[in-house]
Amino acid sequence: MGNRWMYEVGGKQSSHYRPYAPPDGLIRIRGGGHDYEGFSYISETPFVIIDLRNLRSISIDTEDKTAWIQDGATIGEVYYRIAEKSKTLAFVGGVCPTDGVGGHFNGGSYGMMSRKLGTAADNIIDTKLINANGRIHDRESMGEDLFWDIRGGGGTSFGIIISWKVKLLDILEKVTVFNVTRNLEQNATQLVYKWQHITHKVDDNLLLRLFLWSSQSLVRRGQRIVHAIFTTKFVRGVDEPLPKM
Ligand SMILES: Cc1cc2nc3c(=O)[nH]c(=O)nc-3n(C[C@H](O)[C@H](O)[C@H](O)COP(=O)(O)OP(=O)(O)OC[C@H]3O[C@@H](n4cnc5c(N)ncnc54)[C@H](O)[C@@H]3O)c2cc1C
Repeated sequence: MGNRWMYEVGGKQSSHYRPYAPPDGLIRIRGGGHDYEGFSYISETPFVIIDLRNLRSISIDTEDKTAWIQDGATIGEVYYRIAEKSKTLAFVGGVCPTDGVGGHFNGGSYGMMSRKLGTAADNIIDTKLINANGRIHDRESMGEDLFWDIRGGGGTSFGIIISWKVKLLDILEKVTVFNVTRNLEQNATQLVYKWQHITHKVDDNLLLRLFLWSSQSLVRRGQRIVHAIFTTKFVRGVDEPLPKM
């Protein structure tokens, strides 16, 4: 990793952080820092990080069913703030509560209600973005092509996104969640095979997510056990999915 300086956007002055212009001008933008390859905080050459952690306000309008969300917030904070205001409004995003809105929304964002309600990108209606010349654009001034690009195409390539306006979605007060775990001795292979053939055809309200992993057997030393875990969300009450299951 190269030398690293940080300048927190919206943060207080701190002797640890100072503005710095790297010789090759390389800038990393950090939202929640969950990038799998570390693109928000790693480089071979000296660079600065623009860290958005202090830009994390979330303002919710339950009448209008919209919210403005700053890019330093986490997706867990978004869900929590919406739930504080309404039990029947939701936003559709990923499952990891510490994912930053910054990288998450500009990568598209898929979650447990996506079969029914789409991705986060599908439900973004406006944004504020700083371009390389320091100009702030909204959806209207950036144009529909760029607005399309930043919802899935990765924001870093186009500028720094400061905030998003999203559409909140109507949901029922109660939804249904359940997990089923099976190992090879419990027909996991057949279940995974069957899952591949039905998961895209089931009711849109139902998302069947599959994890495969292995663990050491506690009873048979040296032996590994393969597990298939089906994590499931049905965007309605429990009465409907029971017969389907
Ligand atoms: C444990 C885990 C679980 C996950 N679960 C899901 C899931 O359920 N669904 C799903 O869709 N994805 C999921 N992801 C993927 C996750 O959404 C992406 O890794 C996302 O890019 C993380 O965003 P971040 O802001 O936390 O990351 P960061 O590392 O901060 O940013 C990721 C990228 O976006 C850029 N970026 C960040 N903020 C901005 C900004 N404001 N303007 C411009 N560019 C910016 C960064 O420079 C970097 O290139 C998961 C990731 C992890 C690690």
